[in-house]
Amino acid sequence: MAHGLADAGIDLFRSGIWKPRTRPGVFEGRGSVALPWLRRVKEETGLKTTVEVANARQVAKAIEFGIDVLWIGARSTANPFSVQEIADALKGVDIPVMVKNPTNPDLELWIGAIERVQAAGIKKIAAVHRGFSNYAKTMFRNEPYWEIPIELRRRMPEIPLLCDNSHICGNRQELLNVAQYALDLNYDGLMTETHCHPDEALSDAQQQITPTTYKLLIDKLVFKREMTDDSDFLEYMDHIRHQIDELDLEVLDLLGRRMKLSEEIGKHKKHNRISILQVKRWNEILEKAKDMGRERGLSEGFISHYLSAVHQESILRQSLIASKENDSPKGD
Ligand code: PEP
Ligand code: MN
Repeated sequence: MAHGLADAGIDLFRSGIWKPRTRPGVFEGRGSVALPWLRRVKEETGLKTTVEVANARQVAKAIEFGIDVLWIGARSTANPFSVQEIADALKGVDIPVMVKNPTNPDLELWIGAIERVQAAGIKKIAAVHRGFSNYAKTMFRNEPYWEIPIELRRRMPEIPLLCDNSHICGNRQELLNVAQYALDLNYDGLMTETHCHPDEALSDAQQQITPTTYKLLIDKLVFKREMTDDSDFLEYMDHIRHQIDELDLEVLDLLGRRMKLSEEIGKHKKHNRISILQVKRWNEILEKAKDMGRERGLSEGFISHYLSAVHQESILRQSLIASKENDSPKGD
């Protein structure tokens, strides 16, 4: 497999030798016995190697065997005790570390793990987006919630971001789409699981592809530049962006006015001892907006996200008014 991947031109050979498994009694990786195999991968192919580490002992073993890059898995990132133990074991060691997002959609936990590794003196750190566990069954094994890595990017622009399309998809069919989506969001790389005989893989067989298929996938990806200095392009971008900025400002003005009306209605409800939440009205607003949105080419998902935010803000404003003491209700 390593030879196949070296031919495909990868930068880093990933291998889970200590695998955290949700349920006991299944394949948990070969453990330390596989470390010399990885040394051989490096000697024979020149590929750099990376393994997942979840505790201090595994960090020490991986370093002893010359592993080039370590990665902290999603389950460990979700546990600050584990991350701290790994970070403590990394003090004084010069090795790049990749930090996967925690299983739960919690950006602060992800950032916290990166900060713990930074505080241990590690300079080369990358973040790996592998999606987030979700009780609901969707087309993804792990829901991508793209807004979370986008916000990570905004908060930590110096941290390279990789997309683990395998664990997001959980299948082979969507790997290309998710990888392309990540590239379009300017990700710095991919982490993809491969296996010479995918159907026989001892873990996550349904998402594995062969090194050959992997190469085909990479060849299909469209790589884009983040920017260009072409003046025609930039001028037209400015022209459109100017219009977008104006519209955004108009939307903000309208939202400001809309919230003033929410406050007004909040006062009116308070004086008449009427409850803030009016489920029937909320349903009507939502259904009407979905129809009107559809006519304007806006998706239902977007409309319901947008209106939920507006509604929440409106409820908050009304409840602040309701809890103000000086404004006594009608009749008092
Ligand atoms: C893995 O990369 O094989 C793995 C176990 O991933 P995660 O920590 O993202 O579940
Ligand atoms: Mn896996």
